[in-house]
Amino acid sequence: MGKLFGTFGIRGIANEKVTPELAQSMGLALSTMLGDGDRRVAVGYDTRTSSVMLEHSLVSGITSGGCDAVRFGMVPTPVLSYGTRHFDCDAGVMITASHNPPEYNGLKFWDDSGAGFVREREDELEKTFERGGESVAWNEIGDTERADALTPYREDLIDRIPKVEGEMKVVVDCANGAGSVIAPQLLRELGCHVVSLNSQPDGHFPGRMPEPTEEHISDLIASVTAMDADLGVAHDGDADRTIIVDENGKVVSGDVVFALAGINYLRKVETPRIITTVATSSVLDAAAEKLGGEVVRTKVGEPELVREYKDNGGDLAGEENGGVIFLDWAHCRDGIMAAAQIIDYASRTGKKISELADTLPEYHQFKMRTECPDELKPKVLDELAERFSDRNPDRTDGIRIELEDGWLLLRPSGTEPIFRCFSEAKGKEEAEKLANKGMKALKEAIESVKS
Ligand code: MG
Repeated sequence: MGKLFGTFGIRGIANEKVTPELAQSMGLALSTMLGDGDRRVAVGYDTRTSSVMLEHSLVSGITSGGCDAVRFGMVPTPVLSYGTRHFDCDAGVMITASHNPPEYNGLKFWDDSGAGFVREREDELEKTFERGGESVAWNEIGDTERADALTPYREDLIDRIPKVEGEMKVVVDCANGAGSVIAPQLLRELGCHVVSLNSQPDGHFPGRMPEPTEEHISDLIASVTAMDADLGVAHDGDADRTIIVDENGKVVSGDVVFALAGINYLRKVETPRIITTVATSSVLDAAAEKLGGEVVRTKVGEPELVREYKDNGGDLAGEENGGVIFLDWAHCRDGIMAAAQIIDYASRTGKKISELADTLPEYHQFKMRTECPDELKPKVLDELAERFSDRNPDRTDGIRIELEDGWLLLRPSGTEPIFRCFSEAKGKEEAEKLANKGMKALKEAIESVKS
């Protein structure tokens, strides 16, 4: 495994790990990897204070390697993915640290279909980077052009979603992130009465932290109830994820956002195939059952979902954090489309968000973690598989065990020296009990491997 890339792309503190030099060398390496011919690379960035600086370096690297750079400027990640395909680019690079705090930034790489680079392509890029990319002669240096990816994205999305019927009041909170440049306007075009919060681009994230957790979106929750809105929409820093707040100010979790958006989007598809990860709630199985479809579980990470789609087909993919991929729309998680689907679902059925959420079974999750040195992780996994051998553990990613009253997932982090323990059950107490059971097994396994 490469040292630079995490679960998806490169991420780190700006000007420490993610420097202009790194961006330039990565741009050059990407150009070299794409090879000769009229290659084009799309480039977009989020609102971070370091993003424009990194974009300049990246574009300089890309063009010095002979590829043309197609600059979208400040756009959400789903617009970069959409634009990469729309403008026939051979690859795309998004400069973003998604939900991380303001001091972070990162680079995510996309293929010509607008899907994130799978691990093998990231490895190939990292190897090219380590060897050093090759600059071209003065008369082969790439061109740069500016392109507007927001307009075609917006027009295409509006074409696919009917205008809302009647009054629909929506409070949208973009976290001062990249969603600010499109989400409020687009919801207005869909016919919603929109109140926007934290929707001026600002890389200091003065309104709230870019991760849309319940504790970070208290202003949104308060606004939804104070303004008697039908729902609230919270995006993360690059708007590939959405969390919804219902009309009572209750947060609808990422799993349920995924399930509801999916039910609306797939309602006309016969036996839909839903791709998700081992960490996603059983609420997806309930949604699939409603639709007469099936759920397939992969390793954690957006590129893994798209890989499964490319290998075996599928209609919808997504993760437990509110990132949903609408596969005939784009090969990237799209928080803006997810919000539009849920708004359409409510408008079409005349139901409140809480009523829609109530059509699905409620599950409780519990998440814990413990430290574990990276080099011990494979042995700990084997030890855990041995301990749970009578439970027929699923080793797709970590160890997942199905139990009578729920499931348990013990999974090493891909980026930090920790092991995570997820549990899910119908009751809160049962979920906690399961997690404690998992943590006990995990700590014992780590100890036994150490000795
Ligand atoms: Mg994100």
